[in-house]
Amino acid sequence: MCETLKEAWKGTGINRRRFLGAAGVATALGLAGNTFFRGLARADALTKAQRDKMTPEQIIEAMKEGNERFRRGERKNRNYLGEQRASAKGQYPAAVLLSCIDSRAPAEVIMDLGIGDIFNCRVAGNVANEDILGSMEFACKVAGAKVVLVMGHTACGAIKGAIDNVQLGNLTGLLAKIKPAVQATTYTGERSAGNYSFVDAVARRNVELTLATIRKDSPVLAELATNGTIKMTGAMYNLETGSVEFFV
Ligand SMILES: [Zn+2]
Repeated sequence: MCETLKEAWKGTGINRRRFLGAAGVATALGLAGNTFFRGLARADALTKAQRDKMTPEQIIEAMKEGNERFRRGERKNRNYLGEQRASAKGQYPAAVLLSCIDSRAPAEVIMDLGIGDIFNCRVAGNVANEDILGSMEFACKVAGAKVVLVMGHTACGAIKGAIDNVQLGNLTGLLAKIKPAVQATTYTGERSAGNYSFVDAVARRNVELTLATIRKDSPVLAELATNGTIKMTGAMYNLETGSVEFFV
C-alpha cells in the first residue's frame, strides 16, 4: 500500500483487516455463524471482530437470509441512529456490491442490511470501469471486505437502452459497455427491449460479463479471489417477487 493511501486510510478511522489463520476461521465458524448481520439489530454497527470472523460464504449466506426477511416482511427493527453513532469512528463492511441505480433495487433495503454493513457502488446497468474497480480494490484490499457481489435486476432500463441502441449524451458511452452482453446472450425468441424475457437474459449475461471484466482488469481483486481471501459472485434481483437470486 502506498504511503498516500495509508494516510488517506488513517483519515477514515479504519484499520487494515487482520487476516485470519486456519484456526481463527475454525473458531469463527463456531462463534459467528448466521448471527452475523442478524446481530446488527442491536444499536451498534458491524465490528471489525465480527466481520473478520466471517468467511465469504457466511457473508453471502447472511445476505441471502436478509433478503428472505425482506420478502417475508420481517425486516429488523433497526436503530439507525445507534448504527450511525457506533460506526462514526470506523467502518468494517463485509462486502462490496455493484448494482444498478434503479430506485427499486436498493441493496441495503432488499437484503435487510444496516449502516456500515456493505460498500455500495451503483451505476446504471452495473457495469465496471476503472473508477468502480478502484473503489472495489479499496473496499477489499484496504478495508477488508470479503465479498464482491455484482447484482443485476429484472426489467432494467439500462439493458433495454443498450438493446435499443439509445443515443443520449454521456449515456451513449455507458450503454456501449452493456452492448457486449446483448450480443453475447443466446436467445431463440424475439430479441427486443419489449420482450422482458430477453431483457432479463441480457441482464444476467451482463452480470457474468461484468464479473469477467473485474477479474480481467483488476489483478488486485483477481489475486484476492484466487487465494480465497474474497469471493466474487453475481446475483439477479427480481422486481416482481422481491427475491435476490444468487449465482452461488
Ligand atoms: Zn437497472
